[in-house]
Amino acid sequence: MVTVDGDRIISVGRPPAGVKVEDLGNVAILPGLINAHAHLDLSDLCDPLGEPGISLVDWIRLVIDHRLTTPCGRAVEQGLQESVDCGTVAIGDVAQPGWQAEQIESVPTDVTVFLELIAPTAQRVGSAIELVEGHIGSANAALWHAGLGPHAPYSVHPKLLSAVVSLSAARRVPIAMHLAESREELELLRTGGGPFRELLEQLGAWRPGAIPHGARPLDYLHTLASAHRVLVIHGNYLDDEEIAFLADRAERMSVIYCPRTHSFFGHRPYPLREMLAAGVTVGLGTDSRASAPDLNMLAEMRHVVEKHPDIGRDVVLRLGTLDAARALGCGHRFGSLEPGKSAKLAFVDLPDRDAADPYELLF
Ligand SMILES: [Zn+2]
Repeated sequence: MVTVDGDRIISVGRPPAGVKVEDLGNVAILPGLINAHAHLDLSDLCDPLGEPGISLVDWIRLVIDHRLTTPCGRAVEQGLQESVDCGTVAIGDVAQPGWQAEQIESVPTDVTVFLELIAPTAQRVGSAIELVEGHIGSANAALWHAGLGPHAPYSVHPKLLSAVVSLSAARRVPIAMHLAESREELELLRTGGGPFRELLEQLGAWRPGAIPHGARPLDYLHTLASAHRVLVIHGNYLDDEEIAFLADRAERMSVIYCPRTHSFFGHRPYPLREMLAAGVTVGLGTDSRASAPDLNMLAEMRHVVEKHPDIGRDVVLRLGTLDAARALGCGHRFGSLEPGKSAKLAFVDLPDRDAADPYELLF
């Protein structure tokens, strides 16, 4: 029994005398779900782009082509509505420059808008930094929060990353960056070659020396560690040293695991158990409909249960609620059934049978 007053939970368990009780039937009452990583502007896609097992570089080519040929239309509103319908109450969304605030504001949700920043060459750094100032300045705290999204090591010049980290610290806004996502990314950092170099050359964006040679994700984590708050998106190929680095900074740095997207690309098994054992804050996200079938966080959690049977189901629920909220910096408002927190709850119909473990019924 959860007692709510307006938009706040006031007690959990036996309700105070005299309150009106509503019986929701055979449901699990959950805190509203948290999607720590999405690209809502791709929410009008019916199916992921490409076939399962596609290489990340080939998939990026399809995304670029899609963005060039298909107007975004009402995709963001569609994605927000789909998320709300699936019980999601807070989202970390990566938005393209030129995104429309009215679309985010049209569906009442707690959205952190991470402005996507891409500048693979030094020449493009200045204009990217100008975008950052405008984005932070226009944030409407009542309707959306500003975040910064330096895209990935292969698309962000080190000068841009340093500037974004400084602005994050000075203006107290979070950063979300795709990191250690693919083997090809590690290859580019290590050798300066491979499929990502070919892609950058094709796009006319390859500059010898722009991407540091002999680098690894740990170098990026060192730079990012000075930011106000960091969400490392994916982290599929983080090694033990990088996991330990993140565990030491679990209050301000987190990793966002996108389970069905991870499976779509056929990456190596996700190091979830290692991260949790080390003490890393791990939250869940859907990523976009370009690599996941929908924006349903419960489906993401069910996928984690399936792929990681050795992880406690109570832990899996936390990854998609409290830990994802902590990653976004809104754990004090969302993510658990506690007095004072948001009364935006999620209800999940349960099967008509009993089980010793309630999580079995939920998942
Ligand atoms: Zn992403």
